[in-house]
Amino acid sequence: MRLPKEIEKLYIDFDAFFANVEKQLDPSARERPVGVTSLPSEHAALITCCYMAKAQGIKRGMRVSEARKLCPDIIIKPARHDIYVRCHNKILETIGNIIPVTKVWSVDEAECTLMGRERREGRELAERIKKALADKIGTCITPSIGLSTNQFLAKVAAEMYKPNGLTLLPPEALPGPLFDLKLTDLPGISKNMERRLIASGILSIKDFWNITGKQARAIWGNVEGERMWAQLRGYEISRPETTRRMFGHSRLLSREWSRPDKALDCLRLLTVKAAYRMRREGFTAGSMSISVGLQPEGRRGRQTSFTACSDDFRLSGHMTRLYEEVCTGLPPRARFRQISVMLHDIVPKGTRTGDLFDEKPHNPKWLAATKTMDALNEKHGSCVISLGPRAKMPGGYVGGKIAFGRVPDAKDFY
Ligand SMILES: [Mg+2]
Repeated sequence: MRLPKEIEKLYIDFDAFFANVEKQLDPSARERPVGVTSLPSEHAALITCCYMAKAQGIKRGMRVSEARKLCPDIIIKPARHDIYVRCHNKILETIGNIIPVTKVWSVDEAECTLMGRERREGRELAERIKKALADKIGTCITPSIGLSTNQFLAKVAAEMYKPNGLTLLPPEALPGPLFDLKLTDLPGISKNMERRLIASGILSIKDFWNITGKQARAIWGNVEGERMWAQLRGYEISRPETTRRMFGHSRLLSREWSRPDKALDCLRLLTVKAAYRMRREGFTAGSMSISVGLQPEGRRGRQTSFTACSDDFRLSGHMTRLYEEVCTGLPPRARFRQISVMLHDIVPKGTRTGDLFDEKPHNPKWLAATKTMDALNEKHGSCVISLGPRAKMPGGYVGGKIAFGRVPDAKDFY
């Protein structure tokens, strides 16, 4: 743990990213409120909306029908994840021409480390980045930039004034403006955590500032509390690199896709996509879980362990068995609203030996067949070959959806 004496981090967070990309691409949408949904349906919820829409009371999570009632002028666009990723890559290239990007946090957030003279020229640097983005990417896609001694405070600073903000929190300004924020303005403090803090007598950031690191640890029940407390005070904390723990995909299903047979097709596609991504990164999985959100009864999930493998045939087989278990005793009119499949117990290929008691010994032919299919699909740039029936997904973008903390690779859009 180290207390920097100057600004060392620059954090960039794009404002209403998906909505602003849509505005950039469609000039007729620029003077109107825009909302983006996960599915092209009136029942879908907004995943983001532009600031013009926010000013009219539109919120993320609102149903399209509700948003239209509140704001009849709103333009609704279904998310186009491949386009957002392309834009993200161009943004990284533009920033990278000015200063190296240290870490990409999500499709619309990135961190840069300042060195030497840059630490005293943070504001100029941020202004140069803003200008380059406006010139190369477009004036609708605005970033808010924060600068401080560590990534945590730089992110807090970026969120302090949005949209198109530029905020510096140098060490000499601390705690100052932090005391004007709410506890939930700090990344990592959820509504739940806030309740726990209030129960411990911490009602504000000022209260949190004034306790000791040990007390913070006790409230959280783990080291995260002390970490956050130290970062709030400007400390730079190095964290051990986290290792890969799972690969997976999830999907919201529209009404047309909510029947059990359709849900199974969709699960198969998601399994194959997750397996492909895992193979590309050189891993195998030793267990799998699936989870489904059902109407009317809620959520069901199942998990299974097996000899580590990575081929589509065996992973699809495990998925189908889990699906059958999940469906046991399902009321005849049950509908699937959401499905997900996750591969766990991830280890690099070749580090685990086969299980002597596995009933179906490893079949190298399936691995070879999977490799051949991957090569064909990569070469032809689309799903030319796959196991089983290939359904076309509603809304497209199977496995290429942008999730928190993971930006899909161009290859995920096959
Ligand atoms: Mg953002």
